[in-house]
Amino acid sequence: MAPSRPSPRVLGLRCRECGAEYELRPGHVCEACFGPLDVAYDYAAVGRVVSRERIAAGPPSMWRYRDLLPLDDDAPVVSLGEGMTPLVHAHRLGRELGLRNLYLKNDSMNPTNSFKDRVVSVAVSWARWRGFEVVGCASTGNLANATAAYAAQAGLACYVVLPAGTEEEKLVATSVFEPNLVVVRGTYDDVNRLCAMVADELPWAFCNVNLRPIYAEGSKTLTYETAEQLGWRLPDEIVVPIGAGCQFVRHHRAALELLELGLVEDGSVPRLIGAQALGCAPVYRAFLAGTDRVQPVRPDTIARSIAIGNPSDGTYVVRLARETGGLVEAVDEAEIVDAIRLLARTEGIFTETAGGVTIGVLAKLARAGRWQGDEVVVAYITGHGLKTAEVVADGARRVEIEPSLSAFRQMLAV
Ligand SMILES: *Cc1c(COP(=O)(O)O)cnc(C)c1O
Ligand SMILES: [Zn+2]
Repeated sequence: MAPSRPSPRVLGLRCRECGAEYELRPGHVCEACFGPLDVAYDYAAVGRVVSRERIAAGPPSMWRYRDLLPLDDDAPVVSLGEGMTPLVHAHRLGRELGLRNLYLKNDSMNPTNSFKDRVVSVAVSWARWRGFEVVGCASTGNLANATAAYAAQAGLACYVVLPAGTEEEKLVATSVFEPNLVVVRGTYDDVNRLCAMVADELPWAFCNVNLRPIYAEGSKTLTYETAEQLGWRLPDEIVVPIGAGCQFVRHHRAALELLELGLVEDGSVPRLIGAQALGCAPVYRAFLAGTDRVQPVRPDTIARSIAIGNPSDGTYVVRLARETGGLVEAVDEAEIVDAIRLLARTEGIFTETAGGVTIGVLAKLARAGRWQGDEVVVAYITGHGLKTAEVVADGARRVEIEPSLSAFRQMLAV
């Protein structure tokens, strides 16, 4: 392994519960209390280098935020051009929902068509830099897709582990990169447990297991970009789909960092809204019950990419939703499909089932009268519809005609 030469801006890892500190190295739980570990920064040092101008002069990818990511300045990055995805002012959907300032951050435009490219780019870069020869992940589908692609570009061996029942589209889009693709007879939670055991045995870098604190940092760039694209302002509210809850927690952190570093002027941390599918809604149920103790469930939903029955950051999602004045809401299977169609019909964006959950929750809250109409609301569209196309297949209407003008006229007359 390359000698450890940490960035002067990164202090190391810090336990979210007891504050114990560690050097930046593989590992994701505190040895003292089993709490989760986060990357800790020296914000005074970050503040001395970072500025809006420096960010704007950076690459047109999420790596323009490198000063706030845990990679040394001279470490080469493994990049496919992830990030700087479009922020779309959703006029037509906004009109339908009574929101004049509704925006969609379309992260399905990433290289492997999901938000996971952000986290994987950070994790695989770090792994290669530190001399790992094998990367892997425990995935519900999109993470495997991204890990396999970035491993291919980095020239690293790759093991991706998924639960049986993962969408065929995601398996095909992953296997084309020729990783070792392992399907486990069980749920994602079984996959995750297995990968934790493997990571203890083998010198491999599992993006979301032993590299989890480093990996998670990549999520923050979604919120940094949103603020930059809004003209260096934070939105009033953000709607985020919840799987493990990992990204939700980092969006909160990202907003705090932007405020602390003075990159956004006024305002406060956005109200954070978590979105779940009722078929796998352990965080929603804890929120409803007024507790932050999240009881594991067995997932049963078409929103497979967020079908995590025992979400690692669930407790923190509940707390942050409350603390920011947000909430956690859930929608059923029919609402997910309706929302996919609503988004497609009004905005020309085809999202996967996780995006259906996000837009479903947005629509549900709008119809229940949550907003006056002028609030700046941003919904994070985290994955592409072609990855779960079968859920809308039965609505694929078409007319078949003979190649003649009369046949065409006849069709118009019907
Ligand atoms: C992984 C994923 C999420 C959830 O992210 P977490 O950090 O696990 O909460 C949401 N949407 C899509 C499309 C994903 O692949
Ligand atoms: Zn601890």
